[in-house]
Amino acid sequence: MSLTLFLQPLRIRHLKTAILLLSLSLFGGCSVLQGGKLLAPESFGLIPLTQNIYVEAGTDEATRTQLRDAMMKAESAIRTAYGSVKSRPVVHVCISESCYEKFGGRGSVAKVYGDRILLSPRGLNWHFLAHEWSHAEMRSRITLGAWWDMPQWFDEGVAVAISETLEHSESHWKFLVASSTPRPTREELHTFKSLRQWLDAVHRYGDDKNIERKARGDPEMHTLYTAAGHELRPWLAKAGTGGLLALIAQLKDGKDFESAYQTIDMTVERDTPPAALPSSH
Ligand SMILES: [Zn+2]
Repeated sequence: MSLTLFLQPLRIRHLKTAILLLSLSLFGGCSVLQGGKLLAPESFGLIPLTQNIYVEAGTDEATRTQLRDAMMKAESAIRTAYGSVKSRPVVHVCISESCYEKFGGRGSVAKVYGDRILLSPRGLNWHFLAHEWSHAEMRSRITLGAWWDMPQWFDEGVAVAISETLEHSESHWKFLVASSTPRPTREELHTFKSLRQWLDAVHRYGDDKNIERKARGDPEMHTLYTAAGHELRPWLAKAGTGGLLALIAQLKDGKDFESAYQTIDMTVERDTPPAALPSSH
C-alpha cells in the first residue's frame, strides 16, 4: 500500500496515531502499514458495535455480548494495575482469519498499533484484550522517547502479568520446565530490549509456531511470553501500582531502566532456580 493511499482517509485527530504507526512501520514492516487500515475500519468491512469496538460484519449476538463484557473486564484489570485508565483504545474484532490477515495479523492472536487493538478469532476474550490494552496504557503514560527506550521484555511481561492469559500463566511455565523446553535465563531475557530483538527471540524460541503445533495435535508453547510473565509477576507483586508508576516516572525523567527496575527487584524473593539454557540456537 502506498503511503499516499494510506494517509488519505485520515483526519487530523488520527494524526498522532498515524505518526506512531509510520514510525513503528520502520521496525514492523508492512504488517504495520496494513494495520493502518484500522484508522478507517468501516472502509474495510468492520461495523461499529459500541463507540470503542468495531466488529467484522456477521458477528453473532452471543459474541457481541461476550465482547462488551470482555471490554469491561479488561478495563478493570488495567485500572487495578495502573491505578487509573488513561488510554481509550479502539478495539477491532475479526471473526475470520482472512479479516485478521487483511489488517496485518499473521501468526499472532492479537496486536496493537498505537491505540488501535486488533483481535483475531482466537483472541476474543478479556485476557488478550487486557494484554494489548496494557501496551496502549503504557504507551499513553510515557513520552515517545521513553517508550522507545523501555525494554520490550518489560512491556510484554507487564502485559502478560496483568492480563492473566492462561497461555502465558505460571502453570504453563511449570509445563515448560517439566518438559525441559529451552527457555531464556533471566539474564538473556533482559537482553531482548528492542522490538526487533524481541521478535527475533519470539522466532528463535518458537512462540510463532503454534498454528502449526495445533494442526499437528501438539501442545502449544509460549516460551518467551511466559518467561516475561514469570519475571514480572513477583516484581509487580512487590512493586504494586505505586512501584510501577514510580518506574514509569523515572523513565520519563530519563533514568536508566535497569537501575530503576533493580531498585525494586533487589527486594523480590525469587524461589525458582534459573531456567535452563537453550540447548540449540
Ligand atoms: Zn504484547
